[in-house]
Amino acid sequence: MLNSFSKCPICYCDVKLFDVVDFNKSCEENRGKFLPLAGIPIYYSRCTVCSFTYAPEFTSWTEQDFLEKIYNDEYIEIDPDYLEVRPGANAKGLSDIFKGQSQHIHHLDYGGGNGRMSDLLKAEGWQSKSYDPFPKNDIDLATLGKFNLITSLEVFEHVPDVQALMVNLTTALADDGLILFSTLITDNDIKPNQRMTWWYASPRNGHISLFSRQSLMMLGATYGLNLASFSDGFHCFYKNVPAWASHIIKTA
Ligand SMILES: [Zn+2]
Repeated sequence: MLNSFSKCPICYCDVKLFDVVDFNKSCEENRGKFLPLAGIPIYYSRCTVCSFTYAPEFTSWTEQDFLEKIYNDEYIEIDPDYLEVRPGANAKGLSDIFKGQSQHIHHLDYGGGNGRMSDLLKAEGWQSKSYDPFPKNDIDLATLGKFNLITSLEVFEHVPDVQALMVNLTTALADDGLILFSTLITDNDIKPNQRMTWWYASPRNGHISLFSRQSLMMLGATYGLNLASFSDGFHCFYKNVPAWASHIIKTA
């Protein structure tokens, strides 16, 4: 039985049960592809203050559970772009944003999977490393050093422990650094007293933590970080804006 009165992992205020979807709800429904129903209900709770919406079920899953039930051989069917298309597009996007500035940048791609995006950037002369805490491995993040640009693209929504994520990111972040990250915010798509039909709220893709703009601001503030958003899906946490990035924060 889910406890509908537990506390929000971001602002520690009350959360309430919000909605329930089938485990096999996937982001590919947005492209017209529907998996058969799994018959497994996944509940999402929503914070009554910051509107963070998350699936408490997954906070008790082990790494093995995630590997067997979500990030398994069938994962590519419901996220066909993750191996090649998205890393390529993201590397090109970063190159364009920081054109002519790469000599100032010490880059870490956090949650970078097989490291494809980082490899593409290195081929363009960037200093770039990739680190992924999942699945568990021998690399100690603290030994990689500090980075003035950390990217974390389509990672936040997959994370069951958002505080652990922020501890890791801020451990690796240089004082004059930026965290550029992508995750779609819920503000225009999840509303009180409405059913959650939003394509992005998909357990089968491992989308278990869904952020409102306010919840991102509060999460960043906990770590002394400001939030700038460039769109509903692309954001930046920062303390001090380095000169090589001043052109992007001005436009936020
Ligand atoms: Zn909250």
